[in-house]
Amino acid sequence: MSDESRKIRLIMELRREGISDTKILSAMEMVPREAFVLANMQDRAYENTALPIASGQTISQPYVVAYMTQALECEGKRVLEIGTGSGYQAAVLAQLARRVYTMERHRPLNETAKQAFADLGLSNISMRYGDGFKGWPEAAPFDRILVTAAAEEIPPVLLDELSDDGGIMVIPVGPHGKQQILKITKQGEELSTEELIPVRFVPMLKGTEAG
Ligand code: SAH
Repeated sequence: MSDESRKIRLIMELRREGISDTKILSAMEMVPREAFVLANMQDRAYENTALPIASGQTISQPYVVAYMTQALECEGKRVLEIGTGSGYQAAVLAQLARRVYTMERHRPLNETAKQAFADLGLSNISMRYGDGFKGWPEAAPFDRILVTAAAEEIPPVLLDELSDDGGIMVIPVGPHGKQQILKITKQGEELSTEELIPVRFVPMLKGTEAG
């Protein structure tokens, strides 16, 4: 089966699983996931599963990418992503958002993601090697923040960098085995939190790794 027909099968599966927004489905269709998976995993690029990438990390499951993107309501917005990993989620966001700022604490992942963005001609993504717990002060505030690693609690700096004019943060929170996606909306000083689906993400860790 060709990548193209595998991709179409995956998109139909996402629709069956409840991803109803056609803009999200077309964004998923626009991004070649094979450009973000390891060479020895190419034949699995359109499986609806997480896969290993370099530095002991993972590229998220397509369903979770679509689900979080849908929850973020990011069309035309300035988005900060924490946890670039392979760069796949950032590439999906870039189809919808005005600009995507993405941070990664593993230097090698930073390099491969940057190359993938260049190869695909994605020019509305800015990338930084750094610790997401510290945020991206020069580009803040952000309309939207998406965290793709699981935090024990919501990082305060990120909450500060979220726009107070209806800003939305989507973040998996909780200890290993008990994580849940939260959707936080900020209006002035008011925060409202909605609990979404249970998930399994790699942990959000402090500091950076050169290797
Ligand atoms: N969005 C990614 C998923 C990668 S997994 C994708 O589509 O492939 C989560 C990533 O978060 C890992 O690469 C991990 O190194 C990164 N991460 C964990 N803690 C971080 C932190 N404090 N700052 C930046 N990145 C972090």
